[in-house]
Amino acid sequence: MPVLPASWRGSVISFMKKFKVGILGATGMVGQNYIKLLRNHPWFTVTHVAASANSAGVSYERSVAGRWQMPVPIPENVKSLIVADVANIKAAKKRCDFVFSAFELPDKNLIKKMEEKYAAAGIPVVSNASANRWTEDVPMLIPEINHRHLEIIPVQKINRGWKKGFIVTKPNCSLQSYITPIFAIIQAGYRIEKIFIATLQAVSGAGYPGVPSLDMIGNVVPFIAGEEDKTEEEPLKILGSIKKGKFANTNFLKISAHCNRVPVADGHLACVSFKFNGKKPKREEIIKIWQKFRALPQELELPFAPLRPIIYRREDNRPQPRKDRDAEKGMAVTIGRLRKCKIFDYKFAAISHNTVRGAAGGGILNAELLVKKGYIS
Ligand code: NAP
Repeated sequence: MPVLPASWRGSVISFMKKFKVGILGATGMVGQNYIKLLRNHPWFTVTHVAASANSAGVSYERSVAGRWQMPVPIPENVKSLIVADVANIKAAKKRCDFVFSAFELPDKNLIKKMEEKYAAAGIPVVSNASANRWTEDVPMLIPEINHRHLEIIPVQKINRGWKKGFIVTKPNCSLQSYITPIFAIIQAGYRIEKIFIATLQAVSGAGYPGVPSLDMIGNVVPFIAGEEDKTEEEPLKILGSIKKGKFANTNFLKISAHCNRVPVADGHLACVSFKFNGKKPKREEIIKIWQKFRALPQELELPFAPLRPIIYRREDNRPQPRKDRDAEKGMAVTIGRLRKCKIFDYKFAAISHNTVRGAAGGGILNAELLVKKGYIS
C-alpha cells in the first residue's frame, strides 16, 4: 500500500460520515479549547454543547459572550447550537455519537455519577475530569504509553451491564510533560526507581476565571489543591497493568512532587530529577531515545498525533512556555537541559501545553484512538 503524505493524515476516514460529538462543559476553559481544536477535525464535528443550568437554553454564542477566551472566532457551526444542561442526557443522546466530558462540579462524586449515567445511556464518555481516573475498570489513557489499557473496556461494559457506552479518562495536565520522556527511557530497557519533580503550572490550568489576578500578578503560589497527589499517583496506574479485570499500579517507582502556580497563561513546565536502579545510559543515549521515540498514535497516523512526541532542544535556556508550548500544535513535549544530578542521576526541564496536550488535545487523541481501534463506531 502506498504511504500517504503527512498532510493527508486522517483523510481516508474523512471520506466517511463524521462522528457527531458533544462537549460537556463546553463554556469552560477546556470546553472552549475543544471547540477551537475540533473546528477543522477530519473525523469529528461538534453537534452538541452542554454546561450548567445557568448557561443552558440560549445559543452557544450568547452563553459565552464576554468570556470566549480563544484566539479564533467561535466556529460558525457551533455559534447557534443551543446549550443544554449537562443533566439533560436525552438531548445528548439525540444529538451526538459520543461526548467529551470537561465539566466541573464541587463534588467529584457527582461528576463520576453523571459520567456513568451517560455511559449507561449508551454514550461513550471521553473524560478530562479526575472523577473516574481511579475507578478500577476505567483506563487513564496516554495513547503513546498505555494504549493496551483499552483492553479493559469490554470488561467495564460487562461489569456495569453497559452495551454501547463506556468511560475512558485522561490523566492530569501536571504530569504530561514528564511521564512520556520517563516512559521512553523505561521502554528502552532502563529501570527508573525515583523521580523528584517541581512543576511551574500555568493559570489556565485553573479554568476560567480561575485564580484571582491579585494572587497571581508578580507572585507564585506554592499550592494547587490535589495536584501533588495526582502528579505522584497517576503515573503509577498509567505504567501499571490489568490484573484479573482491574488495574494494578506499578510498584517499581516512587515519585515526589512540588506543584506551584506561576503567572504564565498556558504551558506547564516541570523540573525533573530521576534515579536509575541498575544500569544507567549515557546522556547522549537518553537524548537519542527521546528523539527517536514514536508510538502507536504516530504509526496509526492519528490526526492529532504529533509527528515528534518528544522534542529535545540543546539551547541552555529552553524549554520555555511561550516559545515551546505550541510545538507540534501543542501536542508534543519539549525537553531541554538534560544534565547530571548530584543527588539522583540526571535532571531535565520539560514543558507541555496544559489545555492542549494536557486537556482538550489529549482528549481528542484518545477519541481518535478509540475510533481507530473500533471502540467508538
Ligand atoms: P472551567 O473553565 O471552570 O469550566 C467549567 C465548566 O463546567 C463550564 O462549562 C461550566 O458551565 C461547567 N459547570 C459548572 N458547574 C456546572 C454544573 N453544576 N453542572 C454542569 N456543568 C457545570 O474549568 P476547566 O478548566 O474547563 O476544567 C473542566 C474540567 O477539565 C475539570 O474537571 C478539570 O479538572 C479538567 N481539566 C482541566 C485542565 C486545564 O488545563 N484547565 C486540564 C486537565 C483537566 P457554566 O459556564 O455554565 O458555569
